[in-house]
Amino acid sequence: MDFNLNGKRALVTGSSRGIGSAIALELARGGADVIVHCSRPSKKADNIAQQIQDMGRKSEVITADLTNPESTIELAEKAMGADILVLNASVQIRKPWQEITVAEYIMQTNCNYLSSLLLMQRLSRPMQEKKWGRIVAIGSVQELKPHPQMLVYSSSKCAQTGLIKSLAAQLAKDGITVNTVAPGVIYTDRNIEALSDPVYARQVTESIPVGFYGQKEDIAGTVRLLCSDFGRYITGQNIFIDGGKSL
Ligand code: NAP
Repeated sequence: MDFNLNGKRALVTGSSRGIGSAIALELARGGADVIVHCSRPSKKADNIAQQIQDMGRKSEVITADLTNPESTIELAEKAMGADILVLNASVQIRKPWQEITVAEYIMQTNCNYLSSLLLMQRLSRPMQEKKWGRIVAIGSVQELKPHPQMLVYSSSKCAQTGLIKSLAAQLAKDGITVNTVAPGVIYTDRNIEALSDPVYARQVTESIPVGFYGQKEDIAGTVRLLCSDFGRYITGQNIFIDGGKSL
């Protein structure tokens, strides 16, 4: 057994930047061809695809707004035949829970939950025929420790994990593993602004037993492990990579 992904084709949603970009690069390092996805054309996405091509792998950028179910279905059609599906893109809106609008609820649940269902429904079929597949959803430490101002976001991640557990049991006989990897506080674009407040940053750091934020690469290695042959006996799990924050 090894960590190689040679000959595999992966779709990593939300891989123009942040955790998704580190996962895309790590899967390519393992030997996979990788579809880089993001919501709209971006130089960052092009740059990640270029880095993957520079490793000798195939890569293309596909844009699709996952808050829109029709765009999600189009993405699935374009990525049909992928052996590895990483459900990483998410929308996170921070505000007092009484003020969450219907539109904000729909954006978060469409991107964080419904798009996962739509992509898995479509991309798992060819995996079943090949008797090999890997699905990794990116969850959150907020499934266990919800932030008071991210009510819909945290519950959408719990809902996604519900899908993952159910499907892991249903797809196991077809050689497909289905898992969640749940990050803690990882220093990316989405939290740079909040963490620039020194009082909030101190509170957050004190809530993490190891005493520091994670980097996007802290997540990527475990995703590669799950996608490799070494991961073949791991399914239906929710693996927290959070410096102990969920404890
Ligand atoms: P990020 O840096 O904010 O990047 C988000 C990625 O998702 C980008 O590629 C973005 O594409 C894409 N995306 C955003 N909205 C989209 C939409 N409507 N349709 C399609 N793609 C969309 O995110 P991150 O911090 O790396 O987070 C990655 C994953 O880890 C998410 O699922 C997040 O919930 C989870 N997570 C993160 C943390 C953390 O501390 N960072 C903690 C727990 C869980 P564009 O470039 O086009 O915008």
